[in-house]
Amino acid sequence: RDRPESLWKLFAAGAEASPEEAAFVFPETGVRRTYRELAERVHRVAAGLRDRGLTAGDRIALISGSRPEVIEVILASARIGAVTIPLNTGHSASEIEGMFDTAAPDLAVVESRSLDTLAGTGFETSGRRVIRIGDSDASGSYTDLLRHDEVSLDVAVPSPDDLCMIMHTSGTTGQPKGVPIEQFHCTNAVLNNVYVHGIDDGTTVLIPSPLFHVTGLVCGLFVAFAIGGTSVVLREYSPERFLRAVETERVEYCMGVPTHLILAAEEVDQRDHDTSSLVKFAYGGAPMPGEVLPTIRNAFPEIRLYHSYGKTENFAGIAAMLPDQYVDEHPNSVGMPSPVTEIAVVDEDRNRLPPGETGELAMRGPFVAERYLNAPGGSDEGFDDGWHYTGDVGVISDEGLIELRGRKGNMMIRGGENIYPAEIENTLLANEDVREAGVSSFPDDVLGERVLAAVVPKSGARLTEEELRRTCAATLADHKVPDIFRIVDELPRNQNGKLDRGQLVPEPLQFGIKFRG
Ligand code: ATP
Repeated sequence: RDRPESLWKLFAAGAEASPEEAAFVFPETGVRRTYRELAERVHRVAAGLRDRGLTAGDRIALISGSRPEVIEVILASARIGAVTIPLNTGHSASEIEGMFDTAAPDLAVVESRSLDTLAGTGFETSGRRVIRIGDSDASGSYTDLLRHDEVSLDVAVPSPDDLCMIMHTSGTTGQPKGVPIEQFHCTNAVLNNVYVHGIDDGTTVLIPSPLFHVTGLVCGLFVAFAIGGTSVVLREYSPERFLRAVETERVEYCMGVPTHLILAAEEVDQRDHDTSSLVKFAYGGAPMPGEVLPTIRNAFPEIRLYHSYGKTENFAGIAAMLPDQYVDEHPNSVGMPSPVTEIAVVDEDRNRLPPGETGELAMRGPFVAERYLNAPGGSDEGFDDGWHYTGDVGVISDEGLIELRGRKGNMMIRGGENIYPAEIENTLLANEDVREAGVSSFPDDVLGERVLAAVVPKSGARLTEEELRRTCAATLADHKVPDIFRIVDELPRNQNGKLDRGQLVPEPLQFGIKFRG
């Protein structure tokens, strides 16, 4: 096939190659569409959008969970050259209002359960249009938009450097930042995913992450389009839904966060599921504890694992990857850069550091964005001369393997010593009774900051604070041993499975109530 130069062409090539294949399935609702059916509906939505005055370059905000309509709107916008802005439904009205200020949507397509959030943003009162996804077919509803008969759309398909989408980062280290993604960033990121993970034409792809996040959208949906495969989309993740979908749809490939696979593997332990079709799982976004790998391999005997590193700023194009045969030996490594990506470790002044030295990771490649729409330090914060300075702290070993150590913003300074949470978390995870570990800090008059660790024990394990302290003291320098250990039932995580470190520390400690160690 020719190399597609826009999202629309990427979809159209897959659709042309396999018109009667299922383009997507939503197992929870039973909605299933072939590529031919999807393309036909997309043309009608595109005509409906155009009738409402939308043209190339106009912007459409999407506030919805994963649904068929979301897929249709994204493709219809891609067809007419409009720009979609998928937004996390977990955001508050004021957070979305902030994103609207910079992303400047002309139209919003909103699922009924998010209408109250939209009302709080003042979007409608500013006179801009809203299309409601729900079951009513009143004017302004999605059904109304689809009423349009198929027409020939005499609009030009976008060119490679036209804006394709605006994605927002998760906001793990502060406010979500808007990332403008051009058509060529999009197609390069998708094709690199296909290449790096070796995904065959026609593969059935499970999507456990929401479609408003790059993992679900790019590594799931767009990858499946590129290979003319079938997307099996979960509206909501649960281990049981994941496993049922694998079994009934004979899912072959999935990219998600580690939690998706860990919880599913634990569930397989307790019930009988046929997981034999799932032969590849790529994971990223958060670390995978090495200790759970045997449980995973036992639950999914055919699986090959790929530990991948990507971010919103490179549209989840896989910047680095560690393939299956090295995963068990190097569980904390994200492997080597993909062939089209350069990765460097730099110091505070952005000078390159030699192997073995820890610094900030920078990446450069054909799917890395060039700026933010909004960032506290200005739109070029973190970008320079084609490089994106990721804010991730890491090291490249003599063998060339990259290891992430944490985020710049997460570094803790306890009595003048720099400490990264990931190092302590990995130490705790080496204790065979620990299932999950999260580390954060709280203010302290004497040392500036002190360290707190929260730990979820494995089921049936009896852990004590003393034992956790011994685990840390055995390998960590004294100043890195946490001051407080908490044993908890679960760790606070956001919708993308990322640890919410701010919530690890109980409120009295956050507000500087004195710690007496
Ligand atoms: P914000 O930039 O607003 O703080 P965010 O960085 O969480 O949000 P995302 O783009 O969703 O937004 O996540 C990218 C981040 O996820 C990376 O910068 C890195 O810190 C982390 N990450 C990605 N892949 C991995 C991985 N394989 N292992 C550990 N962490 C990873």
